[in-house]
Formats: sequence, structure tokens, C-alpha cells
Amino acid sequence: MTMPTPRERIIVIGGGIQGCAAACFLAKRGQQVTLIEKDHIGRHASGVNAGGVRRLGRDPCEIPLSLAAMDIWTSLDDEIGGHADAFHPCFYLKVALDEAGHALGLARVDSLRQAGFRHEVWLEDSDIRSRLPHLSGRTFGGILVEGDGWAVPWRIVQGFARAAVRHGATLVEDCRVLDLKRDGEGWQVNSSKGTFAADQVVNCAGAWAAALARRAGEPALPLSPHAPMLAVTDRRPPILPAVMGVLGHTLSLKQLDTGQFVIGGGVRARADLDKNRGEVAIPELASSMRLATTLFADIASTQIIRCWSGIEGYMPDNLPVIGRGRQPGLVHGFGFSAHGFQLGPAVGEALADLVMGRQPRVSLEAFDPRRFESAA
Ligand SMILES: Cc1cc2nc3c(=O)[nH]c(=O)nc-3n(C[C@H](O)[C@H](O)[C@H](O)COP(=O)(O)OP(=O)(O)OC[C@H]3O[C@@H](n4cnc5c(N)ncnc54)[C@H](O)[C@@H]3O)c2cc1C
Repeated sequence: MTMPTPRERIIVIGGGIQGCAAACFLAKRGQQVTLIEKDHIGRHASGVNAGGVRRLGRDPCEIPLSLAAMDIWTSLDDEIGGHADAFHPCFYLKVALDEAGHALGLARVDSLRQAGFRHEVWLEDSDIRSRLPHLSGRTFGGILVEGDGWAVPWRIVQGFARAAVRHGATLVEDCRVLDLKRDGEGWQVNSSKGTFAADQVVNCAGAWAAALARRAGEPALPLSPHAPMLAVTDRRPPILPAVMGVLGHTLSLKQLDTGQFVIGGGVRARADLDKNRGEVAIPELASSMRLATTLFADIASTQIIRCWSGIEGYMPDNLPVIGRGRQPGLVHGFGFSAHGFQLGPAVGEALADLVMGRQPRVSLEAFDPRRFESAA
């Protein structure tokens, strides 16, 4: 006979993909969940990102989590219903444009094979050209991951939030958590809409999360806010059935169903957490555009119709913080360093496991918040 899981009052702070996915898994498992968001669901990085759903190029420590996330992406209908059509699996290709990129790519595929991972495969230029006949110049080969793709970010985040509500979670928007205090065995969460009591708190406050952790009595964590940037063009006939990057560069390039190209990637500008604002730095963004036009000369004749940025929290090792805090009943999930959208579904599941004292399906050791303590 299995014992029923005790029903606890859980407060999840942050209505991005991590918070919404965590709330969804917790509510689905019968916990009493309140999700608190200072603005509205998907207002920040999770709703405005490039939508890249990629396993390609992950830090080896992150690969098991990314593979687990992809299991959920491919059965998204089971988790969020209604919004699953917002995910478009295709293939992800990172090409080499010179000998250095060629060497980098081959070494990467080889080292992953030695570590037991086979999802990244090497393609020669002829195979790449047969998949992408509109490519402008020759490549020096590239890395392919079949089944990676792109999603419409705000729809996915909304999907997790709505699924959480369907499973019984309460959603409180326009509500800023101001302070967190231990209260007996649990927490008192003070917010702009009053005080909430909780047995456990999940901190998914994105770029704002380290400041909240401090308020809860946690050691300082080296989270830095930045504003990664994107641009979108006018509509053109379809020429790109994949998401693309360039080895040794941070470009991300895709063509939406509308025919518009979304161009950006790692280039970033300044973020202001107090003003809730990310800047756009056109010269840096222009470097991504140039790279995109090197791949497809047709992109040079498009019009950029909009540029934007989102506020994201970065860790010094570019790996997220996912784990229990020093304080009892506090779990962190933040610092996704501009690649946390694809991980979101598995992070939500893992956070729910941590809250409920279950063993997460992949090791979270590399993401332990304590990894920075000895360096401090
Ligand atoms: C332009 C851009 C492009 C990107 N492209 C990709 C990509 O292609 N693929 C990929 O995998 N990743 C990508 N990313 C990264 C990805 O978007 C993030 O890693 C991910 O969305 C982080 O999710 P989150 O839930 O941790 O943070 P967020 O989405 O920032 O959510 C945190 C939420 O917490 C709320 N909050 C903060 N403080 C409080 C408080 N005190 N009280 C209540 N609420 C609070 C915030 O308002 C916010 O809504 C990109 C990011 C950007 C900005």
C-alpha cells in the first residue's frame, strides 16, 4: 500500500517558465500551490526569448537535464494540453565557417561520444547543403541534433501556468514578494498584496532571485543581470526549415511559420532590475545580423521590424542554481544564463521533486547553490 503524500502549502515565487512548470508539477501532485508574480506571467525572459528548444551545445553537466526536458517537450500535450502546438520540432544545426570551427565541432562530437552521448552528430558540407539548399556559401561541416526546434515562448509559459491552475494552483499576479521570514516550521512571505504563510518556498525569481535569497537569510550568490537581445524581420518565403547557429559564435537563427527570421543569441545589453528594463545595443546586435547574412544572403534584403531584449540572470559558470537552500523549506531554481527555456519543463519537475523530498530523475549536483560558497 502506498502512503498518500502530505499536502503542503507551497509558495512559488516567479511566473517564468521555471516557476510555472514547478507550480504545474506540484499542483498536479496534489500540493496546495500559490504562484506569485510581481508583473504578469511570462513578462520577462521566459515570455520574450528566442524560443530555441535545443539540446545541442549544452555543457556536459547539463545534458541529462536537457534530455529529460526533451522527453517532456515531446509529450507536452500530456502536461499542458491546449498549447502544445506552440512547439515546432525540426532540427538544430551549428555549422563551422572555418577550419577552427571544424576542429571545434569534431572535438565536441568526439568528447560527447566518449561520455556516452549520441544526440549530437557530425554532418559534412554536402549533407548540410542537401538539407539547406538556400545556404549561401560552403560550410566546413557542422553538428546536427535531430528533433530540436523552436517554440512560441509566451504560449508555452501560459500553458504551464494554466495547467497549474487547472490542477488547483492559485495564481497571484501584480504581486511583489518583499520579504521572506522563517515562521515556526514554515515561512511568512510578505508581499505587496499582504502576507502568505507557507510550509515551503520555491525561489524562481529569475534575475531577481539572488536578492530574494539574501532576504531569506541565504549566503550571497553571484548572479548578474544582463539583457540578451533579439531582432525579427519582415516576412519572406520559407528557406530555413531548421534552427541554426555557428560553431564558435553565439548566433541563433530561425524562420517562423510567418516567414519572419528571428536573429540573436548571446549578444546582450544592460539590464536594470529596479526599472524592470533591458536595453537594446544595436551595434552588438548587428554582429548577429551580419553572421545571419553570411549564412543566407537572402536575409540581407529583409527589413528588421523590431528589436528587443529580456532580463536574464547569469551565473559565473553559466550553469543554473537548482537545489535546496541553506534555510529549511527553501528551494532555488534560477540563474539560467540565457539557455533555460528548453530546460524549463525538467527543472519544474525537479523542483517539485526537491520540495516533496523525492529523488529527481537526473543528478542536480552540478547545480548545487553551495558550489559558490568556498569561493566567497
Ligand atoms: C532574448 C532572450 C533569448 C533567449 N533565448 C533562449 C533560447 O532560445 N532558448 C533557451 O533555452 N533559453 C533562452 N533564453 C533564456 C531563457 O529565456 C531563460 O533562461 C528562462 O526563461 C529563465 O526562466 P525563469 O523562470 O528562471 O526566469 P523569468 O522568466 O525571468 O521569470 C522570473 C519571474 O520572477 C518574477 N519575480 C522576480 N522577483 C519577484 C518578486 N520579488 N516577487 C514576485 N515575482 C518576482 C519576475 O517578474 C519574472 O517574471 C533567452 C533569454 C532571453 C532574454
